Amino acid sequence: MICPKCGYEIAAGAPCPYCGHTVKLYSSNPAVNVLKSVGASPKFLVAAIAYSLTVVLSLFSVSSVVQGLNNVLVEAFGAGAEGMVQSISGFTVAGGVVGILLNVLIGLGMWITFVSCSNTKTGNVSTTGITICRTLLVINLVCTCILTVFAVGFFAILGAGIVEAANELMALGGVPNVSAGAPIAVICGVLLVVILLVIFYEAGAVKALTRIRKTARTGVADNRISRYFMVLTLLQGVFRCIYGVADLFSDPLDGIGQILSGVAAFFVALCLFGYRKQMTPLRFGTGVPTAPQPPQA
Ligand SMILES: [Zn+2]
Repeated sequence: MICPKCGYEIAAGAPCPYCGHTVKLYSSNPAVNVLKSVGASPKFLVAAIAYSLTVVLSLFSVSSVVQGLNNVLVEAFGAGAEGMVQSISGFTVAGGVVGILLNVLIGLGMWITFVSCSNTKTGNVSTTGITICRTLLVINLVCTCILTVFAVGFFAILGAGIVEAANELMALGGVPNVSAGAPIAVICGVLLVVILLVIFYEAGAVKALTRIRKTARTGVADNRISRYFMVLTLLQGVFRCIYGVADLFSDPLDGIGQILSGVAAFFVALCLFGYRKQMTPLRFGTGVPTAPQPPQA
């Protein structure tokens, strides 16, 4: 295996003879060993803890949203609005519960992965946690695609309406203001690009977990985790933290939630960067400096 500190090729499970660094060996398979050591690392633990705390906090915010909605509606429509209040809060609660359930499952997947990677009794790693997270990310991706189809349909209808209105105006002898349509076209274009970037991002997450799971099952090294996905996750983490700190004074609960989810994203990204970095030499078998050899007798 490769010493993570000095980069020389060393015997597995023993202290590095070149720098003295002791490497904890999780698996005799080098690729699974990388997966387990990253999954059991303090960085991944921090991510799992921060994510779990985010989920716990979201329980509070859903109940406060429902309470706030209740107050607003009762105030606006009086006590007679109670039936409406109940049905609307029913929807909000249902939506909130589904959202929280998905987050709880992702958190559970992270903990199963952490525990399984930390287990030194076996050199294998359970893929249950990875599969749970991957399934939820697939659902997420499918939902985004469905929403995209609806959004495109909506803008197509809107565009057709504008064209029709312009035609009617011309039929009446008027001159349609072509430049008025330009901002709408620009907004549609920008929205489409943003949606495509989000789809690429979510697909990158699914692909990464598919490959990590395959490595866990087969022991074949694979470093292919999209840089776009990793960089965007890292940036997301940083921006959420900044936003959370700014929000801390006006809405402390939301601010803390943003900071925690930012920390989780940031550390997940760090784990993925480390995973990719350690997996690359295993995949290509190159770039590893050869240790100085003892003189031949
Ligand atoms: Zn070393």
